[in-house]
Amino acid sequence: MSRKYVIAGNWKMNKTSEEGADLVKEIVGAVGQQSDVEVVVCPPFTVLESVSRVIEGSNVKMGGQNMHPAVSGAYTGEISAEMLRNHFSSYVILGHSERRAYFAETDDFINQKVKVALENQLRPILCVGETLEEREAEKTLDVVKTQLVGGLAGVSAEQIGSVVIAYEPVWAIGTGKVATPEQAQEVHAFIRQSLSELYDKAVADKVRILYGGSMKPGNAAELLAQEDIDGGLIGGAALDSNSFIDLVKSAIAQD
Ligand code: PEP
Repeated sequence: MSRKYVIAGNWKMNKTSEEGADLVKEIVGAVGQQSDVEVVVCPPFTVLESVSRVIEGSNVKMGGQNMHPAVSGAYTGEISAEMLRNHFSSYVILGHSERRAYFAETDDFINQKVKVALENQLRPILCVGETLEEREAEKTLDVVKTQLVGGLAGVSAEQIGSVVIAYEPVWAIGTGKVATPEQAQEVHAFIRQSLSELYDKAVADKVRILYGGSMKPGNAAELLAQEDIDGGLIGGAALDSNSFIDLVKSAIAQD
């Protein structure tokens, strides 16, 4: 089964408009014309405009890091799907563990966002993953299944192909502790099996499942070589052009 790898950078709350444009200029210069791997950058909302100008005419895509499910209205500090589209975004990260932990986002709320994103031609990158406590209590697969089923409720078999899943063990995010390729593959295979049960095997085989959690050039090749790992959602290593470009090249080399 050939699935196109996705390397997506989650810049979190980093970079001004100018810094973001400089970073993405280097990415576009190095890997912006290749089409073997889908390259996505997710800057803060205030940086979308400057980045969109730089990626125009290249194959680099852009996404938001969050959105609100409402069309518009009294939601101070929030941003809608239409606003993201209006700024040339084609992806949106939803359900990141930092949103779940610091902003109390529930599976039900994340599910509303997933459906609204899809209705607005935004591809959701739906994040799932267990905490260290949950892993130690051997609850990893239960937690991931609950987040997956909850996040995808009401998403049709036609729509699921536009969804990207990111497995991000919370204990590996920003900690330098990366899941072993075997640990990651076990959960990725479980996610694909769960998608087969929710939809069917042919549909599940097409969905890209990314690994996220301290992925960097030194550990990427082994992770990306796993059968059910179709790319990476990258935090820290996405803030430096050389490491992000190396990660994209590592994915290209897997083809
Ligand atoms: C993330 O937050 O999505 C992430 C994977 O971060 P890091 O690569 O820094 O662990």
